[in-house]
Parts: sequence; structure tokens; C-alpha cells
Amino acid sequence: MLTLISLPAFDDNYIWVWHDGRHAVAVDPGDPDPLLDFLDANRLTLSAVLITHHHRDHTGGNVLLRQRTGCAVYAPDNPRIPAVTHVLRGGDKLNLAEPGLHFDVLATPGHTLDHISYVGHGCLFCGDTVFGCGCGKLFEGTPEMMAASLDAILSLPDATQVCCAHEYTLTNIAFAKTIDGSNPALLEREREDRALRAQNRPTLPSSLAREKATNPFLRFHDPDMTAFAAAYLKCPHPEPSEVFGAIRAAKDAWDS
Ligand SMILES: [Zn+2]
Repeated sequence: MLTLISLPAFDDNYIWVWHDGRHAVAVDPGDPDPLLDFLDANRLTLSAVLITHHHRDHTGGNVLLRQRTGCAVYAPDNPRIPAVTHVLRGGDKLNLAEPGLHFDVLATPGHTLDHISYVGHGCLFCGDTVFGCGCGKLFEGTPEMMAASLDAILSLPDATQVCCAHEYTLTNIAFAKTIDGSNPALLEREREDRALRAQNRPTLPSSLAREKATNPFLRFHDPDMTAFAAAYLKCPHPEPSEVFGAIRAAKDAWDS
């Protein structure tokens, strides 16, 4: 039987781990220690690491994990990512034997140019592209690029479990309320996710349906978000990517 768990790392990262009781695969183990502890405690062999993008809090475990376990390291094409054994590109299919896992690789540039996401087994491992009620900052890409990446994610089934790399949900909800405060689904999510965090439980994975209903960064085709962007940009008819860009700019200003 396949099991998926999230291991907390650093202050607010999650390392997602699939295992079948014998072999394990980990997504973005930036800190190797919690993963090695989990593997030891459960007598699991690490067969592969899947990397979404080059940031150190996602790739920092690669060298040590490969040394200790001999695992394969799958990653996008970027020389800044250490210890890579297999390069992946959008459109690739990834088939792993132990445990038996099958993913479609989605190119999701925006947060970084190299960013890829993994889709399979009803789950999306989206790194720093989508967060609970939020999205990654545009460190390298443009709003147009990120909006196209988010459109690809929006085309996945509503039941898809969204497995993000950070626990940022409550902060993101606080921002979302400043532009979408009368959205009942958002207010309901705030109640539920606050209760989870009060018990130190993750708010993730969420479902794509929930993100579509509450995450302003996935609602850039929505009339309410378009009206917000029109006022923010002082532009009567913004394009969807401009609506996304306005929401991102408003969040960046709110953060600072
Ligand atoms: Zn990042």
C-alpha cells in the first residue's frame, strides 16, 4: 500500500514522502535530517528524490542523501542543482519502480524559470508555485509565465490533492481577505485551517477545488478578482495575466 506523508523541515517547509513500507521517494528534501530520521525509524530505503526548483531549501539534502543512500535525484535542467542523476522537462513521464509511482512532469515557470511540478496518484507536488491560498513570489518569471503555469494547474481534476512545499496558508488567507473578504468559502477555510494550526497540524494537502474557491491567485479569470485588478491597475479591462499580476503586486506590497 502506498502512503503519503509530509515531514516538517526548517521553519515552514514540508518534505512530501511516498512509501510502501519498504521503499520511499521524497519531494524537495531541502533538509536531509528529518527525512533520514523518518527513513531510519520506519526502516525505509530511499530510492529517489524529486526536485521542483533550484532554491536551496528544496535541494539542500541532495548531496548527503545521495551519498548516504545512493538514491536517484530527479530535477529540472539547472546546473545550480547539486547531485542530479536524471534531468526532467515539462511533458516528460516519470516512472519509478520502488515504490511504483508514475508522474507527469509539468513545466511551471514563474517563481523560478526552472520550476517543474509532478502530477500523479491524484496529487500535485507544486513546490513553490501554488501555496495554500497563495502562490510563490515571482523571483525569476513574469506574471504572464506564472499565469500560464497556473492555467495548466487549473486544468487538473478538482479532486487533485495540492501538496505545497511551505505552510503559509494562514498568512495567505489574511491577505486574501483584504481583497476577497466577503467570500464565504474563504471565511470557512480560515476557520478550519486556524483550527488545524492550533493543533499544530498541516493545512495541506488541500484540494484543487478548495484552491479554486478560495485562492485569489488561481481566480484571475473570476469577475470579482478582475474588478479588483481593474481598480488596482486603473485599467478598465485587464487581461487575465494582468489580473494575476495585480494580485501578486498587491500581495508583495502587503508583505513589505
Ligand atoms: Zn523557492
